[in-house]
Amino acid sequence: MLFIYQRSSALFNEAKKYIPGGVNSPVRAFNAVGGDPVYVKSAKGAYLQTEDGHEIIDYIASWGPMILGHAFEPVVNSVKEAVDRGTSYGMPTELETKIAALAIEMAPNIDQIRMVNSGTEACMSAVRLARGYTGRDKIIKFAGCYHGHSDSFLIQAGSGAVTFGSPNSPGVTKGTAQDTLLAQYNNLDQVAQLFEHNKNQIACIILEPIAGNMGCIIPQEGFLQGLRELCDQNNALLIFDEVMTGFRLARGGAQEVTGVNADIVTYGKVIGGGLPVGAFAARQEIMNFLAPLGPVYQAGTLSGNPLAMSAGYAMLDHLNKHPEVFDSLSQKTEYLHKGIQEVLESKGIEYQINRFGSMMSVHFTPDPVVDFESAAKGNNEWFKKYFHGLLERGIYLPPSAFESYFLNDALSYQDLDRTIEAVQEVVNSW
Ligand code: PMP
Repeated sequence: MLFIYQRSSALFNEAKKYIPGGVNSPVRAFNAVGGDPVYVKSAKGAYLQTEDGHEIIDYIASWGPMILGHAFEPVVNSVKEAVDRGTSYGMPTELETKIAALAIEMAPNIDQIRMVNSGTEACMSAVRLARGYTGRDKIIKFAGCYHGHSDSFLIQAGSGAVTFGSPNSPGVTKGTAQDTLLAQYNNLDQVAQLFEHNKNQIACIILEPIAGNMGCIIPQEGFLQGLRELCDQNNALLIFDEVMTGFRLARGGAQEVTGVNADIVTYGKVIGGGLPVGAFAARQEIMNFLAPLGPVYQAGTLSGNPLAMSAGYAMLDHLNKHPEVFDSLSQKTEYLHKGIQEVLESKGIEYQINRFGSMMSVHFTPDPVVDFESAAKGNNEWFKKYFHGLLERGIYLPPSAFESYFLNDALSYQDLDRTIEAVQEVVNSW
């Protein structure tokens, strides 16, 4: 029997009266796939309990943070203990030092870390720091990479990478947009040209070292290394946005698995264990530029919040002590990849599956998906049918082809088999 989500639709209609578009973050509204969002009542392990009374398998893990499954006991217990001690002080706590030391122990190449409240804040602050450190204004970003919703990042490619960006959200000024230069992901030549045309003006390159915001896109051989070299030659900083990849791909995130060191790294998602946390980190000489030591200002009333830090510390501590989780996740993701691949191939469907560690995405296109342009060629009508077909069978995928799946380690091989069978049923019905 197919699942219907009647109460969710009713709740969404009510929400639309009071919340813009009914949601507090746009992608939740199902604009890309149509239909009404699913309302969650609770979650445990790999499963979401919906307001409709269904239990569904979750492949978004709150868009990444719930890497060990929902309501993971060490994290929940740690928050429960913390809450009785008060929810915020606006004064330093020992726990902030403990989580900072642990994150620095786990991730390579960073000396200091500053906690903020979201990935957006982390990336915004990282770019300000890079600008302050280098004394330069311009930044390079890649089309299709998402670094949160601060003004400098809401820029899409105009006519080619060597032209100035134009804002793709009203409210972002032209002045801000013209300091953001764009290149296509995996295209080193375009980046080299941008440096050539903007000599001594580029503060930094920011990118997702493994991209997850145009589906999952993998850096081609030599791409990250090439960016590292271009930054070194041009005295610019390389910022890895590890909001998705940090503490997910390995203890040391993408820096560890790719062997490429960034100058500034941003974190979010896993580092907060499901509470609102972001962070940015760098070597000492760069972090010395940050207030109160240096001139680059950055602050936050709730930064280092005791509940958020207790969740984050419990999460990182578990991952640090159980690094086998990363292999386990990778194997599960590979199993799912192979299973879906077999089904799609048996039906002669044109598809691409990109996978890296516990991130993956399915694109309905015959051509390799290596950047935003190739990702945008995916057949969205097929994606919608695939998404809704699976939802009707109790499987929750990201509701857009431009998002990555995030596997969580509570998923069992039985869950994966059930998912693959559901994919089979869905494509049989096409
Ligand atoms: N960077 C990346 C790579 C992200 O995926 C996201 C969010 N999905 C952000 C930054 C922004 O994080 P937040 O939503 O916590 O502001």
